[in-house]
Amino acid sequence: MIAEPQPPSAIFHRSLTKTYPTATTGQGVYITQSDGSKILDGSCGAAVSCLGHGHQAVIEAITEQARQLSFAHTSFFTSDPAEELASLLIKSSDGRFSTCMFLSSGSEAVESALKIARQYHLSKGEPRRTNFIARRSAYHGNTLGALSAGFNPSRREAFEPMLSPAFHHVSPCFFSRDAIDGEDEDEYTDRLMREYEDKFLALGPETVAAVIIETVGGATLGAVPGLPKYLSSLLELCDRHGALLIYDEVMCGMGRVGTLHAWQALGGTPPDLQTIRKGLAAGYQPLSGILIGSKVHDAIREIQATLPFVSGHTYQGHPLACAAALAVQKTIVRDDLLSKVRRMGGLLSQRLRDSTPCLKEVRGMGLFLAVEFSTQPGAHMASDVAATCMKNGLAVYLCSSAVDAVLFAPPFIITEAEVDQLVSIFLTSVEEVLQDLRDK
Ligand code: PLP
Repeated sequence: MIAEPQPPSAIFHRSLTKTYPTATTGQGVYITQSDGSKILDGSCGAAVSCLGHGHQAVIEAITEQARQLSFAHTSFFTSDPAEELASLLIKSSDGRFSTCMFLSSGSEAVESALKIARQYHLSKGEPRRTNFIARRSAYHGNTLGALSAGFNPSRREAFEPMLSPAFHHVSPCFFSRDAIDGEDEDEYTDRLMREYEDKFLALGPETVAAVIIETVGGATLGAVPGLPKYLSSLLELCDRHGALLIYDEVMCGMGRVGTLHAWQALGGTPPDLQTIRKGLAAGYQPLSGILIGSKVHDAIREIQATLPFVSGHTYQGHPLACAAALAVQKTIVRDDLLSKVRRMGGLLSQRLRDSTPCLKEVRGMGLFLAVEFSTQPGAHMASDVAATCMKNGLAVYLCSSAVDAVLFAPPFIITEAEVDQLVSIFLTSVEEVLQDLRDK
């Protein structure tokens, strides 16, 4: 059959040569395409649509808020949904945060968290603190500051000359891959802490504003959880040197790993600042946030009259987006979805572990799981697997070329039968790719 010629797209897509299918409707864990076929949303795009599609309570909350008030600029007003959402997030965070700022994208949240860290040190009379320590293989967003913080070579390459020299990188925390000479978790952590210490000393500890890490590494390496001792040792090290600790939970946070915040499942060490985003409004509206601990908030507030925080975005604290997020977060609590994430995550991870051929590792937590393949050195099958899954009716997220891995992050509402369907399409697709490789 000869394919229908497609009209040229008016959208400046990521790929300007590829033809993208049109998504028309969504219900539950499925997205329907314009030809009527359904795709199981196995990764919620990039860990976004945690309540699935077409959720009535969220749609009604957005509609109701739109009737009342769609927008009020935060230079002039606050709004009920923004206040209520901030209070709910603060109350449910074990008393670790005292305020919250809402923005639109994850990159904006990262940029603003970096600026808040800088503002904190200015307010403490330490203007020399301009350096940031981040990790190789991290992804923190695509705006120039966030891209400078991250270290995904293929995303940085074209823009390298425009990136900030204020960012310095150390090794990621990837115990299952990087532990050497039989190191246990404690010895591995101690080695990484010595690397941080050396970096602090090389830069001059009095020049370091903050360390920023993804609590569970996401887009680049695929669902790599931080170790509990790593997080507590890093906070201790930052405190000792007067630097702040920032967790970027844009991808792994808001329930994705089975607790509201990923650090709560990793020993409970809280950061000074934390970004949140993808599951916050579950894709029903673009919303991100920064959770701010009292140490930072109080210091900035104290000197507010002489040193105001001069940074903001027009759509920050958007009432419609906050109303959507409030409905999402209330639904997660009401329907006890975090327990479901843990239960379904356990099931999915077990099924993938039991039956994936060429398996190197299934890693991750809750419904944030990566499958890494074990192929010949240098060979990659993950991109073919992701493309074949899509052809067969399952969307999975392709990790960076640093690993031969795909990421699963299905909606929290996924049922056991849908987990079975997801695994079945995935295994059929892996088999197809392996058969193609054998035929070559
Ligand atoms: N930080 C992390 C950990 C991310 O995974 C992402 C996006 O994937 C971002 C920041 C950037 O978020 P956004 O794409 O909303 O700007």
